[in-house]
Amino acid sequence: MADPRDRIDELGEALELADRAARDYLRDFADDPVQPAGSVERLDAFAPSLPEDGKGAPAAVAELARLGIESATRSSGPRFFHFVIGGTTPAALAADWLTSALDQNVGLWVASPLGTRLEMVAIEWLRELFELPPAFGGVLTSGGTMANFVALSAARDWCGQRRGVRVGDRGMAALGDLPVLTSGHIHASAVKSLALLGVGRDSVRRLSGDESGTLDLGALERELVALEGRPAIIVANAGEVNSGAFDPIDAMADLAERHGAWLHVDGAFGLFARLSPRSAHLAAGAERASSVSADGHKWLNVPHDVGFAFIRRPDWVTDSYAEASAYLTADDEAHPSFTHRAPEGSRRARALVVWATLAAYGRRGHRAVVERHLELAQRLARRIDAEPHFERLAEVPLNIVCFRWHPPDAEEDALDDLNRRLGAELLADGRVFAGTTVFAGKVAFRPALVNWRTGERDVDMLVDVLVELAERVSADAATARG
Ligand SMILES: *Cc1c(COP(=O)(O)O)cnc(C)c1O
Repeated sequence: MADPRDRIDELGEALELADRAARDYLRDFADDPVQPAGSVERLDAFAPSLPEDGKGAPAAVAELARLGIESATRSSGPRFFHFVIGGTTPAALAADWLTSALDQNVGLWVASPLGTRLEMVAIEWLRELFELPPAFGGVLTSGGTMANFVALSAARDWCGQRRGVRVGDRGMAALGDLPVLTSGHIHASAVKSLALLGVGRDSVRRLSGDESGTLDLGALERELVALEGRPAIIVANAGEVNSGAFDPIDAMADLAERHGAWLHVDGAFGLFARLSPRSAHLAAGAERASSVSADGHKWLNVPHDVGFAFIRRPDWVTDSYAEASAYLTADDEAHPSFTHRAPEGSRRARALVVWATLAAYGRRGHRAVVERHLELAQRLARRIDAEPHFERLAEVPLNIVCFRWHPPDAEEDALDDLNRRLGAELLADGRVFAGTTVFAGKVAFRPALVNWRTGERDVDMLVDVLVELAERVSADAATARG
């Protein structure tokens, strides 16, 4: 019988197996296909029924390592351009191992002064990294979605307070409708958060006059005037996922101040524009927001799952998070208990990876990563512009390049289908990974640059492979036409 207490001596061997497997994986994965051939089929090897008797830690870990290395999507490698998925810096990866070894619970100060103190420091360092004012406090979350959730819950509770309603106690029904004013760039996760918070998806008003989602600033002002001082939430989007476009945050901050609205900035990856003088202007005004959210597992290159929400402290309403129970300690400034500021009770010590990567590389190191990606995005845009059969669909303000395949003989109404087919070919090919989206009504590619390892060779390979596969899809289509 495999009672772990009887098999405590297996610990060293299990850790060594995991260490060796991780080193093997990370040595080769940059040159592996992003989704190794046959890897999805091999997942059937994970047995469908619960074992009655265990095989012991070394055997279990060895099996997991083998199947894991065979099947893992190389999404933390340098040629994964799909979605916006970052890699893991060496310091952050090692710190993640320590996070599990130390296994702190950062819900209550008494349960982990270490984890709590590091979370306070990590939030402070991030605030300095993004040059936000000292008035901002914050929490680490499981990602950008939960960072939006935490920030928007503070926004909701603040709006309630302005109308004399404690929403955490009485619910949204006591508050009534709460308008959320934004552009067409709002991220699906912010909308989802509003649904979860009871504000509702239908509260979102996308004030945009064009099909790419650009904010109609005049419409925003008219909406705010019509509210006659009733509370509202404005969501400014710093970095739209298809093109990297930014809402005019400063102008939105002016309106928020004038009309007494809460301004939330969703900067999941776009907030990192503030790390470089070349791009900082894009996210100017975020320092004036009531709340700001961003991701760690994207452009900071720490492992999943890490995000952060900053909230301007005097406005920070934590009604909804206060967890009252005889055995839990209350929150206090010097020795905070993050369970009173976050959705979770027990919480992983996410600060270790944030602390480690910032301690290891500093502001300059992380700025260098951002600036390399700014250059690589321009390089990619130039290469697309030079390809006669490809067409760029948007400006490249940051780290995303939005384009599509456009063979000269193809009719407009055939292009969506052709691009979907090319997208499927690209994913099946696996040398580089980038998917399709719909941008301004057109099926398009939108590779994002966020991985610290990515270099010129990787970006060039994306274009070379796309051109090669496009020729094949064309030839197949010609054959099919006969
Ligand atoms: C990725 C993203 C999110 C959601 O973040 P997760 O970490 O995936 O939860 C929110 N907003 C924007 C703009 C994003 O790009």
